[in-house]
Amino acid sequence: MTWLDRNVTELGGQKLHPETLMMGFGYFPGLSEGAVKCPLFQTSTFVFRSALEGKKFFELAYGLRTPDQGEQPGLIYSRINNPNLEILQDRLAVWEGAEQALAFSSGMSAISSAMFAFARPGDVVLHSTPLYGGTDYLFERILPSFGVKCVGFHAGADEATVRAALATARAEAGTAGRIACLYVETPANPTNALVDLALCARIADECAGQRDGRPPVIVDNTFLGPLWQRPLDHGCDLVVYSLTKYVGGHSDVVAGACLGRKEVMAPVQVMRTILGTMCDPHTAWLLMRSLETLELRFTRSVDNARRVAEALAAHPQVLQVHYLGFLDPQSAQGQLYARQCLAPGSTFSFRVKGGEAGAFKVLDSLKLVKLAVSLGGTESLASHPSAMTHSDIEPARKLELGITDDLIRVSIGIEHPDDLIADFRQALAAAAGT
Ligand code: PLP
Repeated sequence: MTWLDRNVTELGGQKLHPETLMMGFGYFPGLSEGAVKCPLFQTSTFVFRSALEGKKFFELAYGLRTPDQGEQPGLIYSRINNPNLEILQDRLAVWEGAEQALAFSSGMSAISSAMFAFARPGDVVLHSTPLYGGTDYLFERILPSFGVKCVGFHAGADEATVRAALATARAEAGTAGRIACLYVETPANPTNALVDLALCARIADECAGQRDGRPPVIVDNTFLGPLWQRPLDHGCDLVVYSLTKYVGGHSDVVAGACLGRKEVMAPVQVMRTILGTMCDPHTAWLLMRSLETLELRFTRSVDNARRVAEALAAHPQVLQVHYLGFLDPQSAQGQLYARQCLAPGSTFSFRVKGGEAGAFKVLDSLKLVKLAVSLGGTESLASHPSAMTHSDIEPARKLELGITDDLIRVSIGIEHPDDLIADFRQALAAAAGT
């Protein structure tokens, strides 16, 4: 690599892999004193060389003209752009195979900015359930106050059920409204039920005749992406992330992302600039470090999770393990898994004997695995969805969604798997009073 190279993407006709590109892609040492690593651009604003340059930068940023041949957007102000954000975004786009990525201050700011970009009063959002608690709150309580209705279908439901929800959504929208978007979280949290992404894309195609055309399919890919699930390859339009989870990977940042084709991303970008929901430079810089080890961390977590899930399934205190790797390949969900997922990830849930008291005893007895919400960090975490992340869902709806009192969710990290298994075994033994 020379001082000036920044975008070597193939060698001898061989396309370079994302793991390789994470070390330098998008960064130009020659612009930063030759520093091997991209420095932190902790600045709110950027100096223009001349007033004319400032004028030209703003024209592009505000879409007042199309760029000249080869013209790149200039740096203006860190709510609009910043080198750390831009390089991070280029690298996120590499992993996802997306044309464009935008980094946000949190997963929720990415999701809410996307919703405000697409939903208008009278519209309906057709979505899978269960959703992450914050997204559920946005859909159930905030969007309706802006005149946007939300209609859900269960993750794991068959095509006829999804189509029945579509019919309800269309009836709700009436002639004045539209289907604003299809919004999907798969695998669903905490049950790991899968939603058929290709079916969602077909349904969106069928809605193309509505005013303003085909609604986008937006997929929360936090649990398996970008390594083990690629929604854009299944005809979906936008992918959103809580980068706080596996991508950040160290439980020390809160951030989000939205990725997709440039034309679909354009309104999301406007919303991010105006709402100010972008990621700050320091967080972006930390996330660039995280991306260098993403594949190593996630692969190890997946291997560990398989070992832990097997040990739990064999334990007499455990009633059921919702682990994607255990799906029957002949079942509809098993076949969907084979079409849509490349690995089972490392977040799953399991039911223990003794109801809530039994689950609490296990959680309180863990010595190594930490009792905390969130997921995707290097350390293993365990939580109680019914009493914690999903506590504000109506009891009857919780049961419908499979969020029972005896359910524990775990996110398996990169510790030695034997130590993790030993911890779960001793906690289960303590709960059983043996
Ligand atoms: N999506 C999923 C699947 C999540 O689990 C979370 C957070 O737990 C979010 C979105 C929201 O992300 P953040 O906490 O970064 O706002």
